[in-house]
Amino acid sequence: MKSGWNFDNSYSRLPDAFFTSTNPTPVKDPNIVILNEPLAKSLGLNVEALQSQAPVFGGNEIPEGASPLAQAYAGHQFGNFTMLGDGRAILLGEHITPAGNRVDIQLKGSGRTPFSRGGDGRAALGPMLREYIISEAMHALNIPTTRSLAVVTTGEGTIRETILPGAILTRVAASHIRVGTFQYASAARPVQELKELADYTIKRHYPAIDDQTQNRYQQFLQEVVKRQADLIAKWQLVGFIHGVMNTDNMTISGETIDYGPCAFMDTFNPETVFSSIDTQGRYAYKNQPRIAVWNLARFAESLLPLLHEDDDQAVQIAQDSISKFNDYYNANWIQGMRAKLGLFTKEQQDEALIYKLLQLMEENQADYTNTFRALTQGQLKDSPLFGKPEFDEWMNEWQDRLNQQPQSKEDVAELMRANNPAVIPRNHRVEEALDAAVEGDYNVMHRLLDVLSKPFDYTKDHAEYCSLPEPSNRPYRTFCGT
Ligand code: AMP
Ligand code: MG
Ligand code: MG
Repeated sequence: MKSGWNFDNSYSRLPDAFFTSTNPTPVKDPNIVILNEPLAKSLGLNVEALQSQAPVFGGNEIPEGASPLAQAYAGHQFGNFTMLGDGRAILLGEHITPAGNRVDIQLKGSGRTPFSRGGDGRAALGPMLREYIISEAMHALNIPTTRSLAVVTTGEGTIRETILPGAILTRVAASHIRVGTFQYASAARPVQELKELADYTIKRHYPAIDDQTQNRYQQFLQEVVKRQADLIAKWQLVGFIHGVMNTDNMTISGETIDYGPCAFMDTFNPETVFSSIDTQGRYAYKNQPRIAVWNLARFAESLLPLLHEDDDQAVQIAQDSISKFNDYYNANWIQGMRAKLGLFTKEQQDEALIYKLLQLMEENQADYTNTFRALTQGQLKDSPLFGKPEFDEWMNEWQDRLNQQPQSKEDVAELMRANNPAVIPRNHRVEEALDAAVEGDYNVMHRLLDVLSKPFDYTKDHAEYCSLPEPSNRPYRTFCGT
């Protein structure tokens, strides 16, 4: 039976310095523990055939047409510049879907590469399933993201603080080209190679940019800024905290990548940080737009030689492009907030209305997702905001504002349902699913994935997935590099 792989490996045709050809290191006993059937189908792959491809997902067999490699990149990690590269991931190649889309097929946890430094090149089962759950939830929330095609256990132990079961995730991405890929080109390679990388990336992700236009690299920078502003606004609107927004974890395609210490916020608090290693709160919820700007400035710096032959003018172009982030971001965020509140029209007072609600949520420690869900359903009884005079006042202002627009109550309800998820991957539910899975019971995770695949479905009773963690489960902490 044909599995449907259709590889064409354009990245491997870039200059040699951008990658090292390396095969995955075979594992003892690869077993598929989860396979993403809808994703497989949408890629034109045969689900039944894939079910017997554990050796492919485990890196023991290389599918026909693949050309495995580890990518070279650099990055600012918590502000410090480092030479990196795929230390535990291998790009099998690019699969071309029947619709003609090109996607990277990458194995994560597939063994050591020349970029592994001190690491073992491996990954543990819990974190790989965690990436699977959160990335698929993000996709269902209409947020651009890498996807997860499969997780296999390796039959080997992974030495961390204790010995954990090893696993490999098959990640599907528009590409794995990062801000850090450009930083690498700029820091370590001649301008000609930087240009080749830029031309390649434009063709792959921004094909609307004409290759004859004089200022095409400026347009490229501007479009990347725009896509990232759109992405970060989407994160903020659902309360997603990435946790490790290093420049090597920011894609040029505009997809969310690298689900390490990420988590969704429960109680609305802009200071929220989950990552155990983010002791300074650099990547706190409220800082994400600012950090995106910082990362994009590093991207712009790496493009300087392409932006203009005159250094000062190049810097000016870079600054002008980056400075547009805030306008793009604010426009996206406010538009998204309007939709969450059922507002079709734009009014001067909307921003004040939005900020007042957020302030009330913060003061009363209201849950972010559940507040908007309760507003959508008109069921506020259980909210900590219920009965607070300032909130009653806010409700009146909001109702007046809704009455100023021509749309019906039904239209408003529909808009709100489409923009306020009834469920998100709550940390305690994700942990519960992972704990059961690591013990060999995958049912909890399958139920969770099913609910998360339809986050805007208000017809279901999601009560158990909407409830908050017991106070003893707080504060929640996430870990990366496992
Ligand atoms: P991350 O913090 O996940 O973005 O990873 C940063 C860098 O560390 C990347 O270059 C990874 O490839 C590398 N890395 C993470 N974990 C391992 C590991 N277990 N073995 C080798 N390299 C790793
Ligand atoms: Mg990374
Ligand atoms: Mg990572």
